[in-house]
Amino acid sequence: MPQSAEKVLDHNELFKQPEYQDLMARKKQFEDCASADKVKEVEAFTKSWEYREINFKREALTVNPAKACQPLGAVLCASGFEGTLPYVHGSQGCVAYFRSHLNRHFKEPSSCVSDSMTEDAAVFGGLNNMIDGLANAHALYKPKMIAVSTTCMAEVIGDDLDGFIKNAKQKGSIPEDFRVPFAHTPSFVGSHITGYDNMLKGVLSNLWAGQERKEGAAINVNGGFDGYCVGNNREIKRLLGLMGVDFTVLSDPSDVFDTPADGEFRMYDGGTKIDDGIAAVNAKATFLLQGFSTAKTGEFIKEKGQEVVAFHNPVGVTATDAFLMEVSRVTGKAIPAELEKERGRLVDAIADSQAYLHGKSFSLFGDPDMVYGLVSFLLEVGAEPKHIVVTNSTKDFETKLGALLEASPFGKEAKIYAGKDLWHMRSLLATEPSDFLIGSSYGKFLERDTGVPLIRIGFPIFDRHHHHRFPIWGYQGGLNVLVKILDKIFDVLDKDPKGTSFDVVR
Ligand code: SF4
Repeated sequence: MPQSAEKVLDHNELFKQPEYQDLMARKKQFEDCASADKVKEVEAFTKSWEYREINFKREALTVNPAKACQPLGAVLCASGFEGTLPYVHGSQGCVAYFRSHLNRHFKEPSSCVSDSMTEDAAVFGGLNNMIDGLANAHALYKPKMIAVSTTCMAEVIGDDLDGFIKNAKQKGSIPEDFRVPFAHTPSFVGSHITGYDNMLKGVLSNLWAGQERKEGAAINVNGGFDGYCVGNNREIKRLLGLMGVDFTVLSDPSDVFDTPADGEFRMYDGGTKIDDGIAAVNAKATFLLQGFSTAKTGEFIKEKGQEVVAFHNPVGVTATDAFLMEVSRVTGKAIPAELEKERGRLVDAIADSQAYLHGKSFSLFGDPDMVYGLVSFLLEVGAEPKHIVVTNSTKDFETKLGALLEASPFGKEAKIYAGKDLWHMRSLLATEPSDFLIGSSYGKFLERDTGVPLIRIGFPIFDRHHHHRFPIWGYQGGLNVLVKILDKIFDVLDKDPKGTSFDVVR
């Protein structure tokens, strides 16, 4: 075998070895493949205008949706509370997917348990799984709180989480006063952002139950389903710290998805303290930084009598200005000179690079808040959004993004493709290419297929490391996004075989 402990080959190098090449060539003999010419002919057809029209008439099939399923969001949200074990009532295989998805993105272990419903539970209901599962999870992993969500299987048979959890407590699985917030997260509706929203509302409902609200001076902040939560939450905490604001981050997974390698495994690390979460009912206002993805929680918080201030992924100068000014309005704290300087530096950086940004066209795909924030930034730097594909779109998002595009001279060519998937995006890029594409790692197939260079911003980012450690919010975050975009623009310039700009100085 070509693999050896002396020189370990990664899979890319390993599968180039003659043994594997030979194996793959022989495998083809049994696959009854179409001829190479036929494959080329079909490939060319699928990139034509004729096929684009057929593709956009597609109704009963989704191909590569730019979204994941509800419990994934619920698990991320639950991970952001102190000592909290995400627990999924349903199939074990689903939970393996949530854990691996988060693990591959953050390059960190993702702790989450399942009560492993199988055929008998599908017929008789999953109550026994909940009774045993809560007892085992509590005894083995010693959490301070267990946050329960569901997979499709539990939802199809209609398991009642509230009743099951009460029943499990009566049977002695866990103490009566042990906190078990829950959220039904049926994946056949919504997406990972809906699941996040449902779980955040579920946790706050639990923590705030029976609390009488006495308004204080502090504010709450929540980042929504955010693949950059490690960098972003730290940046938001830094900004609020500089302003001297008293705040609580509601769901803060920045530490649990960035634990140090010092010999100690931390199943739980950091997170919103349970007591702080309870006291958060008294906040003067809650700032939702991804308002489209936390709409239900926003309504719930408003019903409690708090002001809710919603943003949509505040990337860039205008969006950061708006965030800081709203914080200043609500708290009465001034924006310090240090932040004014950071703002000026971002404006300076944008001006330095203006010639390379102006007029470049960008297609985008991703979650509504992510796409809104990035489009806002592109317009700010004079770039032109083109095809905007949002599988988990909402009416509110379409209205607000439409208004944003309408208000800018750079937004005139953009079109929003609500509810469409990445196979639609392929048709769009093949027939009307943009200069660049912005989206998650799944965009790399579009890049290879259509030649439109991919700038990786979104969730998940599996095939590049450590992006999540750097913020995209605040002035510092805006700078990071700017550099990501510019690096790709310069890479493309350098690779242009007919280019006359292979320069050292730009
Ligand atoms: S869509 Fe349903 S079955 Fe598939 S992973 Fe999500 S919860 Fe499980």
